[in-house]
Amino acid sequence: MENVLNGIEEITLMGPGPSCVNQSVLDAMAKSTLGHLDPWFIKIMDAMKGQMKTLLHTENKLTIPVSGTGSAGMEACFVNLIEKGDPVLILINGVFGMRMEDVATRLGANVDTLEFEWGTPVLVDQVKEKLAEKFYKIVAVVHAETSTGVMNPVPEIGALLKGSDSLFLVDAVTSFGGIKINLDVWGIDVIYSGTQKCLSCPPGLAPISFSDRAVEAVKARKTKVPNWYLDLTMIINYWEGATRAYHHTAPINMLYGLYQALYLVLEEGEGNVYKRHMDNHLRLVEGLDKIGIKMLVDESCRLPMLNSIYIPEGVDDAAVRSALLKDHKIEIGAGLGPLAGKIWRIGLMGHTARPENVDKLLAALKTQL
Ligand code: PLP
Repeated sequence: MENVLNGIEEITLMGPGPSCVNQSVLDAMAKSTLGHLDPWFIKIMDAMKGQMKTLLHTENKLTIPVSGTGSAGMEACFVNLIEKGDPVLILINGVFGMRMEDVATRLGANVDTLEFEWGTPVLVDQVKEKLAEKFYKIVAVVHAETSTGVMNPVPEIGALLKGSDSLFLVDAVTSFGGIKINLDVWGIDVIYSGTQKCLSCPPGLAPISFSDRAVEAVKARKTKVPNWYLDLTMIINYWEGATRAYHHTAPINMLYGLYQALYLVLEEGEGNVYKRHMDNHLRLVEGLDKIGIKMLVDESCRLPMLNSIYIPEGVDDAAVRSALLKDHKIEIGAGLGPLAGKIWRIGLMGHTARPENVDKLLAALKTQL
């Protein structure tokens, strides 16, 4: 009988995620499955909360991984905070800001948006003007917009909101583990991420963190959280306290993987990890420049882990991407929305961000172009 798993090849993942996974993370996931209330597993859970708090630079007690991918993290944040009619402002300059709008709208929020050209950052002055017009319960933005490669000015937006009653909600799916997140100093109340980008773990978990203020807002709801699986008022009883209560069966081995991925970042040293992302990004930009390929995003707000590059004139987008995969075992990403067919997205996330991968891609691109 054929086992299709035997046909899996090793691909260098240089798209917008998932990224290459360190072997020790895969090994961690292959360890014996413990029961979800086993005392040793609870020890792992507690250690993992500490790892996330250290790397996010927060004292938030409610810092846990949600079962599900980054989008589950997004849903968890919005569904726990929004009640029908709540005023929400979403800053949009790409696909993932649009997804936030969709999620918040489905929950019955009264959503206003501020939109910015794809490939450019959110403009803080415009946010300031909007905030002067109306009170918003939540102001939400994507830190690292994976659809374009833009880094949004999260600390500056956080500074605008300081002292106000608005909650600042940030998507850190692509930024966590690749660039610094100073959660408490930046005044972020709610954050969600994913495992498969700069943390270099397979997809399947969404680290989230809620400030005490955000937890109070959840507790002050007049209506029940309208989603059973993501209701943090129940999930917290599994992640906190002397006795733990079952909510849903935790994805045990996936959590081992995240523990190990966070362990690797802490072991290498947070600053070294960010520097490695930046060094490899600069190596890529320099190499691309030599073959005449230009970047979409201005240097001032470029992400190191997601590089959007213009597809050279006359080149067949899909043909090159499929030749890279077939002949060179390298995956890169296509453009999305208005950028489809115009750009490629090259990920240098986590374990992928190494000079040998940059050089391999540059050599492969030269051959293909
Ligand atoms: N937010 C951003 C910025 C992302 O890049 C992604 C995925 O690419 C998501 C949210 C959604 O995460 P997932 O695909 O893991 O559900």
